[in-house]
Amino acid sequence: MPSQVQKPRFRKVQSFTTNYAPTVITQYESERSGMQVIVADRKGPKINGYFTLVTEIFDDSGAPHTLEHLIFMGSKNYQYKGLLDKLAGRAYSQTNAWTAVDHTAYTLETAGWDGFAQILPVYLEHVILPNITDEACVTEVHHVDGEGNDAGVVYSEMQALQYSSSELMDLRARRLLYPENVGFRYETGGMMEALRVLTPERIREFHKAMYKPRNMAIVVVGEADHQNLLEILDEFEDSIKDDIPLSDPEFKRPFIDSPQPPALEKTIVETVEFPEEDESTGEILVAFFGPDCNENTVMTAIEILLTYLCGSSVSVIENVIVEKEQLASSVTAWWDARPNSVIWFQPAGVDADKLAFVEQRLISLLKEVASKPLDMAYMKECIQRDRRQIKFQAEGSEGFYSNLIITDYLFGKRDGSTLADLQNLKAFDVIEKWTDEDWRSLLRKWLSDAPHVSILGKPSMKLATSLKEAEEARVAKRKTELGEEGLKKLKETLDKAKDQNEKPIPAGVLDQWPVPDTSSIHFIESETARSGKARSLGGCTNQAQKIIDAAPEGLPLFIQFEHVPTNFVHLTLHVGTSETLAKYKPLLPLFADNFYNTPVMRDGKRMEFEDVVKQLETDTISYQINGAGRVGDYEGMAIQFQVEPEKYSTMISWLRTLMFDTVFDPIRIKAAIVKALADIPEAKRDGRAMAQEIDTGLHMRPESNLVARRTLVKAVYLKRLKKLLEKDPETVLSWFDGLRRSLFTFQNMRVLVTADVAKLPDPVAAWDALTSTPGLDTTKEIQPVTRPWAMLNEEGNSPGSVGSIIVPMTTLDSSYSYSTASGLRSFADPRLPAFLVAIGYLEAVEGPLWNAVRGNGLAYGVSFSRDIDGGYIQFRVYRSPDASKAIEVSRATVAKLASGEEPLDKHLVEGSVSGIVLAVADEQATMSFAAQQNFVIGVIRGLESDWSRKILERVRHVTHDEIRAAMTEIVLPVFEPGKSNVVVTCAPIMEENIVKSLSAMGYKTQVQPLSHFYDSYGLEGDEDEDGDEDEDDDDEEDMEDYDENMDTGDEDDMDDME
Ligand SMILES: [Zn+2]
Repeated sequence: MPSQVQKPRFRKVQSFTTNYAPTVITQYESERSGMQVIVADRKGPKINGYFTLVTEIFDDSGAPHTLEHLIFMGSKNYQYKGLLDKLAGRAYSQTNAWTAVDHTAYTLETAGWDGFAQILPVYLEHVILPNITDEACVTEVHHVDGEGNDAGVVYSEMQALQYSSSELMDLRARRLLYPENVGFRYETGGMMEALRVLTPERIREFHKAMYKPRNMAIVVVGEADHQNLLEILDEFEDSIKDDIPLSDPEFKRPFIDSPQPPALEKTIVETVEFPEEDESTGEILVAFFGPDCNENTVMTAIEILLTYLCGSSVSVIENVIVEKEQLASSVTAWWDARPNSVIWFQPAGVDADKLAFVEQRLISLLKEVASKPLDMAYMKECIQRDRRQIKFQAEGSEGFYSNLIITDYLFGKRDGSTLADLQNLKAFDVIEKWTDEDWRSLLRKWLSDAPHVSILGKPSMKLATSLKEAEEARVAKRKTELGEEGLKKLKETLDKAKDQNEKPIPAGVLDQWPVPDTSSIHFIESETARSGKARSLGGCTNQAQKIIDAAPEGLPLFIQFEHVPTNFVHLTLHVGTSETLAKYKPLLPLFADNFYNTPVMRDGKRMEFEDVVKQLETDTISYQINGAGRVGDYEGMAIQFQVEPEKYSTMISWLRTLMFDTVFDPIRIKAAIVKALADIPEAKRDGRAMAQEIDTGLHMRPESNLVARRTLVKAVYLKRLKKLLEKDPETVLSWFDGLRRSLFTFQNMRVLVTADVAKLPDPVAAWDALTSTPGLDTTKEIQPVTRPWAMLNEEGNSPGSVGSIIVPMTTLDSSYSYSTASGLRSFADPRLPAFLVAIGYLEAVEGPLWNAVRGNGLAYGVSFSRDIDGGYIQFRVYRSPDASKAIEVSRATVAKLASGEEPLDKHLVEGSVSGIVLAVADEQATMSFAAQQNFVIGVIRGLESDWSRKILERVRHVTHDEIRAAMTEIVLPVFEPGKSNVVVTCAPIMEENIVKSLSAMGYKTQVQPLSHFYDSYGLEGDEDEDGDEDEDDDDEEDMEDYDENMDTGDEDDMDDME
């Protein structure tokens, strides 16, 4: 940046250090425009920016959400669609945005300050001075295509959302809570019927009214260069002052200066139907108005009260409704910050015939709790626990400060007095002194005695059918009205718009910005130290290792220590499952759900599960058990604890209890099964997940946890297991016992301890409390970690003989696909750097596939897998009107690039390399991530510790020829019949076309119902099952996935509205 004569015209409002985490928060305000800048300084490679505009609208037009999309289509000085994203892509940056009911936030995440500083002014110009063309509105918002169908990026997005149960229920609740003159009433994403008639003019008007510096906060979390930031913003204000007045004293603050909603006068309970062919389970949404979100102490108390009521399996609502009476699979509670906040309760997985009853039960429970003294000891625990968790999140979570700061900008005082509440946790000191009566009056005032709005969400097959018929009739009528001539005209308009939007960016334009240096990316250093069996991986010579070597030695448990300056201990116990029989593997999700929720034997006495949970809550910050995907091993399990250093040995003693001294209790296991069953219908509605599950079953061995934990297995297996548990509990309990014995052996255990090692009392020998358990053989050698490719079955080792499988699902309006071919098997494969660059190139935002697929409305997005040593490559189409077309176009696009017919774009290659840098920064964004990454690289993958650095070096030198070779050899086969298999899930109406075009591409095709892929893992039903099964299949009484327990690391992360 050129040096400024004029000093930046920003006033520092305040700056303070939070006293519960080492973070400095600084607030500035532009003296010219009133724009606010709030910076939370924190160490690490990532800078996260959130450019937030408060947006209020009194209709369902979708102007706020459509505007969010149009901002990325070009600005006054940069009239090219995609320029911003191409530029960001080369600067270790990523842009995204979301639109909520009260604001739109544009995000910029960057590795290193230099990249952030480069993109910031260009981005802000797009936000404040966008070039909203009619043509951009055609493709991004809504249009009718040449075949008479509705399309457009935002339209398709809302089409997939509008009739979902959560959307229908939430919207109805807001209609009942708010009158027409309150913005919270409306669907800011845009209702389909409104989007069809939304004009560009309306969007421009909305932009003019809301997108002003005066109404914008620049929130930055990370290692920011304040002086440079203010200079950039000052210059930015200079650059826009001729186009829009900087000062606007008349401006009214959205939501604050607007009318407020009246209080609810009476309780309203309404039923809302949602389209669903499985009519067995529904959901409930209950809303209460709460206090003003600026009242820090009261809102903190509300938060604690919700923890007390609904925070875990021992809190009263969950304990009664979920665990004891099994009326719902879960009850969640949260509050939305608003001038009149809203407190929500959401029981899910409720029997459709019992919705009204369960709603009543929830309300009567609230009254019951308020009618007698609270468990004040537990309340105190809730307060302590929330306080610990806040400290923990403040240290580690990227979103902690940004969420609080954004909320304060929306509704807080502009003078900074409410932001200053972030300085300390004083509110906790106040409510710690609250009496039983204080708490119960809070409960009565806002919940048990307060009128509320309840929505009973009821599944309806009839509605599903009638909606579909009405939609088909509407489109058919329009086609007739338009006639051939009309359709032709529409096609011409669309083609013209596309041409206009896709105007190429002249090569010289991007070259104005050099690729930023990486020296401003400050990676977090984590020192590795090893003890016991882990020493075989190689010694370390750093300070941490000296501390470990000096500590008393214990039994030779495999422990890797990661030394970072954290105030906490993060523990991961990795458990291999290679010695576990396939027949036990479907039990793993239940085993995990039961792990912390079951009675144990302590000191010879049985301790009930409620006491276990309460004690665990006292001793820890949090605890989880998951698939070990997050530490790079999809076949293992990971038991995790976060504790304060003084609880180190307590935690180890808990591990011993939970691993070896639990009591498998048929009542608890049944509760876990019922919960899992209730969640299945929702899981089965997910077209993306079902396509993935079928693909997994097709290519992997049944021994794989990825196969065994599928909904397609649970759908049959759990029903039979439930019956067997009733008839012959001993057998089921013996299986759980067999599973436990096969998991918790010395040779299956690897420990990762992330901590300030110097603060740990007795870091190594403390583990003897666990390893001295009778039966653990500490002389055994550690089992190798299962390599992912070893779990491929015969088809997975050489995909292609199946061809394509098309699965019509009545729950879908759209289609999803997974294509799989053979891929890399080793991180040492010399083609790896070129492969990574090739994939990054193809997937780039505004890159070749983005334009060919998303740009033409063929799908919301497409992506490739990155499981380097999985032995496969996957190509995925997400939410498409016709996945086969998206596949076809993608194949043609890749083929052209691979053959050289279409030259590689130098800027996109730079972008792809910079994307890999950003991904590495992401993996190491916080202290615990950086530590975990060392474990993944060294222990799970067996690579050298500087592997990431080496790969970053190598990707910089990949040549265009190498990229093309990687596309030809590794990527193209995923599109080739005979070398790849394709699984498509789709709306039934799409089946015929998809079959036709896949077969035209050369794939064998077969159409199968979802139930064809059910797998019982050899668990037979009993004699009377036939009748039951039929009955069950008719009303589809089923369950859900264990996302929280088993992550695949496979979420589609795309530009989306909230
Ligand atoms: Zn969107």
